[in-house]
Amino acid sequence: MADFLTANYHAHTWRCLHAYGTEREYIDAALEMGIRTFGFSDHIPCPFRGGYVSRIRMTMQQAAEYAACIRELRKEYAGRIRLLLGFEAEYITDFYEEQMRMCHEIGCDYLIMGQHFLRSEELGPYTGTPTDDENRIREYVDTVIEGMRTGSYRYLAHPDLMNYQGLDSVYEWEMGRLCRELKKLGIPLEINVLGVGEGKFYPAEKFWKLAGEEGNEVILGLDAHCVDHIKDRSSYYKCLDLVEKYHLHLLHELDI
Ligand SMILES: [Zn+2]
Ligand SMILES: [Zn+2]
Repeated sequence: MADFLTANYHAHTWRCLHAYGTEREYIDAALEMGIRTFGFSDHIPCPFRGGYVSRIRMTMQQAAEYAACIRELRKEYAGRIRLLLGFEAEYITDFYEEQMRMCHEIGCDYLIMGQHFLRSEELGPYTGTPTDDENRIREYVDTVIEGMRTGSYRYLAHPDLMNYQGLDSVYEWEMGRLCRELKKLGIPLEINVLGVGEGKFYPAEKFWKLAGEEGNEVILGLDAHCVDHIKDRSSYYKCLDLVEKYHLHLLHELDI
């Protein structure tokens, strides 16, 4: 097994207001770690109505500058590392068309889905907030499946962000449904390296057990919000332990 990822599609930039460092620092760290394909997937901007301003993502107006920045770096680093331009996006029907138009306009290479909110950040709640409301997990699974059926998203980031704390039988039923449907669609599930590094509640073993039983494809994602997240070898190894423990089918790169 390699001693680190060779491709990473999950990294943020300072534009989301909760990530630190420059793109150049991220890329140099990736080079140092032997990463050959590095995708920036900052939190997608949302066309909020009514003047809401997010404190965790860029604005729609910033997208063009983000794209120009990554494209410039791609030229500069050509031959040393492959740089991709992407977004991590929630699937929210009210924003979807406008976001797709924006992605097309700026020449975005790929999207990953990270369903941090079900009905937009403005309305909440955060998917990671503990709940025993089974309607929430059902809505999460329904929304992710509906979004994935558009074919717009290349993988599902931290599928286990949905923090349902109620009955095991409900969790297994709903997440089993998610795993089965995404397997049918050929959509990989991300084991989130940052979650391990920061001791979050995900990766959740109960989820990866189900994914192992369903036979889903999985991929590791650094979810880098700073340079140190690109050098976290010990969390990488812990993710590999999960892969081994639940007999997960690990992909090393995507076809982008
Ligand atoms: Zn973030
Ligand atoms: Zn995320």
